[in-house]
Amino acid sequence: MKLVIIGGDAAGMSAASRTKRLDPAAEVVVIEQTRDVSYSACGMPYNIADPARLMDDLIVRPVEEFQQKMGIQVMTGHRVQSIDPLERMVSAVGPEGKEIDVPYDNLLIATGARPIIPDLPGFDLPGVLALKSLSQGRAIKDYLNTHAVKQVAIIGMGYIGLEMCEAFSNLGLAVTMIKPNPDLLPWMPREMAATVAQELKDNYIRIDAGNTIQAIESTKGRLKVRGDRDAHQADMVLVAVGVRPNSELAANAGLALGPAGAVAVDHGLRTSDQSIFAAGDCADAFHVVTGEKTWIPLALRANRAGWAVADQVCGNGTMLPGIAGTTVFKVFDLEVARTGLNKKEARRAGFEPVEVTITTRSRAHAHPGSTSIQVHMVADQKSGRLLGAQMVGKEGAAHRINAAAVALHGQMTVAQFLQCDLSYAPPFGPVWDPLLTAANQLIKKL
Ligand SMILES: Cc1cc2nc3c(=O)[nH]c(=O)nc-3n(C[C@H](O)[C@H](O)[C@H](O)COP(=O)(O)OP(=O)(O)OC[C@H]3O[C@@H](n4cnc5c(N)ncnc54)[C@H](O)[C@@H]3O)c2cc1C
Repeated sequence: MKLVIIGGDAAGMSAASRTKRLDPAAEVVVIEQTRDVSYSACGMPYNIADPARLMDDLIVRPVEEFQQKMGIQVMTGHRVQSIDPLERMVSAVGPEGKEIDVPYDNLLIATGARPIIPDLPGFDLPGVLALKSLSQGRAIKDYLNTHAVKQVAIIGMGYIGLEMCEAFSNLGLAVTMIKPNPDLLPWMPREMAATVAQELKDNYIRIDAGNTIQAIESTKGRLKVRGDRDAHQADMVLVAVGVRPNSELAANAGLALGPAGAVAVDHGLRTSDQSIFAAGDCADAFHVVTGEKTWIPLALRANRAGWAVADQVCGNGTMLPGIAGTTVFKVFDLEVARTGLNKKEARRAGFEPVEVTITTRSRAHAHPGSTSIQVHMVADQKSGRLLGAQMVGKEGAAHRINAAAVALHGQMTVAQFLQCDLSYAPPFGPVWDPLLTAANQLIKKL
């Protein structure tokens, strides 16, 4: 059996390694357009914040190890240009423009996603950078090392923008965050988004929300981000307005696409062609709350989907139930976490959502060091099912959200969740865990 994998990061290398472990006789070929495979993109903001660290610290396993120890053929510097499903062949271009055709029995498309770069003047200027791949991480670090950067403008305010604002601030740079939508974190209740806004303010981050960018200009060696309301000077601009799936290869090969144009896959990660799989940021998934297709590009599901593809091609038939969209990020001293649906998404999915937002303490009453923690919960009025949760706090939000995520996977009602035996000791939370307190308030509305 020959498995060819396009893309050598989370999904691709997970699939490659597990296939070789399950079936040492399998021929596994990974085709990767950059020189990097198997790295932690998620660690890049923290690496950039530390000038002493090399970007290559983030490489989990080098190419040589995959080749020599595991017997996986890794073709870095090769970009796949097309897939021929009838001939079961991919065509790639190598470093010197040399074309090569690689046949497959099974193919995995694990091409990830790429940053959205607005089609506006100036987004191609030197010093206007985005962050997705390790090479883009290196480019940001190089730019900081070789230019007198004092002020950074970040366009966009998703989690990558927020993590990077902390990273730049830790480097002593002045940061302005600009976005067209006047609401900060629009998926979150206003009072919780206000906590995040206050944290940014406390750390001297300027926020310009509600300013639609028109262009970036280069003036006297500096950059100017011009919006319809205001303009901001900067020495460097980070574009962080989101990502889109790299699904063009699949689309050109006639494969079906799903939400956001991601490659459509079934629970076994098969595309509309039975010998072609897709996994990770380039592929869609089922949402465990709605049962519908969704596109939420995150690391765990990419790794897990890669594993599942290995199981499939080795005959172990693993089926993935889906994802809950569980997300967590840190911005300065705050942990921000969510899982499942917010009220708007729940209504759109056909539920009758009710919601509650509470503020409680992160540790037991009178225990030293306790801080405020906010919990938001959404349930379905008709069925009583828990649909989603969000948390913001200086401690205890990041991992606590996982209890709610498990409840979503288990399709629990709020009443069932309320009976869960969660842990307690004074340094870690109140007797009634903040999630249980929120559930207790929510059940009164059902
Ligand atoms: C700054 C940052 C922070 C993040 N933090 C988190 C976090 O805290 N938690 C979390 O869950 N997720 C996080 N993520 C998201 C996470 O990194 C991704 O979900 C994950 O990397 C997806 O893995 P993947 O293998 O699907 O795609 P990718 O990692 O994008 O890998 C795809 C690979 O395919 C290659 N490729 C694409 N097209 C071709 C082609 N035609 N030919 C050959 N090769 C090709 C690319 O070069 C790339 O190496 C973060 C991402 C970034 C950028």
